[in-house]
Amino acid sequence: MTPVVLITGGADGIGWATARRFAAGGHRVAIADLRAEAAEARAAELGPQHMGIGCDVAEEAQVVAAVAAVLARLGRIDVLVNNAGIPDSMAPTLAQETGFFMKLLAIHLQGTFVASREAARAMLAQGGGAIVNLGSLAGNMGLPRRNAYGAAKAGIHSMTRSMAVEWGRGGIRVNAIAPGYVRTKLMAKLEQEGKVDTSAIARRSPLGRLGTPEEMAEAIWFLASPAASYISGVVLNVDGGWQAFGMAGDAPAVE
Ligand code: NDP
Repeated sequence: MTPVVLITGGADGIGWATARRFAAGGHRVAIADLRAEAAEARAAELGPQHMGIGCDVAEEAQVVAAVAAVLARLGRIDVLVNNAGIPDSMAPTLAQETGFFMKLLAIHLQGTFVASREAARAMLAQGGGAIVNLGSLAGNMGLPRRNAYGAAKAGIHSMTRSMAVEWGRGGIRVNAIAPGYVRTKLMAKLEQEGKVDTSAIARRSPLGRLGTPEEMAEAIWFLASPAASYISGVVLNVDGGWQAFGMAGDAPAVE
């Protein structure tokens, strides 16, 4: 039976690279994204056996409907990748408003919760599955002006563990990756707005550069695959060594 993967926010960036990776690995891919046309166009790029669907992960009813649509069309869900997300406003905390704070939590945290709950119903009935969440280094380290984003990602790391222990006996493994800085549209927008300096990021990174969406997709693919059959409840840093580096200044050159 051909396995099925559902990827939220799969029309761009890390989600799209992940969609291509799973399609290449023989999965039927369901791309759920905010813009239905973009999701459908991306699925069509992959081939006729794949599907795209419009879904705002912050809206519970839309997530429930998207999971139901995937089950109706593709018959099963073997892997869920909770990827949809937006960056923080990066306003100073004293200028932050609760409206945007709650919106960001609804997308990242509630979206991950509801999609996992709905997919797990199908996975438990099937006898198992794998969920991979998009965490972040921001969920482990303190980034100024990113209260909502950091809190959401720390919450996703926590849910990764709680769901992993709750559903383990049902054959579901739940893991997350915590990317460092990755070259995507999200990152390009932050750079254009002067909110991140990618040259400085590259200098501070032990591997000397930002990550690529394809490198994130490989880690997601691994955690979802049988090669990771005894790995559950883990948050895997995929950050070029960023979180291992504790000194001041740029990462050192090799001498
Ligand atoms: P992109 O902005 O490149 O892609 C995100 C995709 O998700 C877009 O297609 C976007 O649609 C979609 N999306 C946004 N909001 C929603 C929503 N409410 N419902 C459904 N889909 C939505 O982001 P990245 O690939 O960079 O990020 C993907 C994930 O990785 C996020 O969770 C992010 O927090 C995380 N991450 C990214 C890092 C990075 O450096 N890039 C670092 C650490 C974590 P649209 O284009 O219409 O907005």
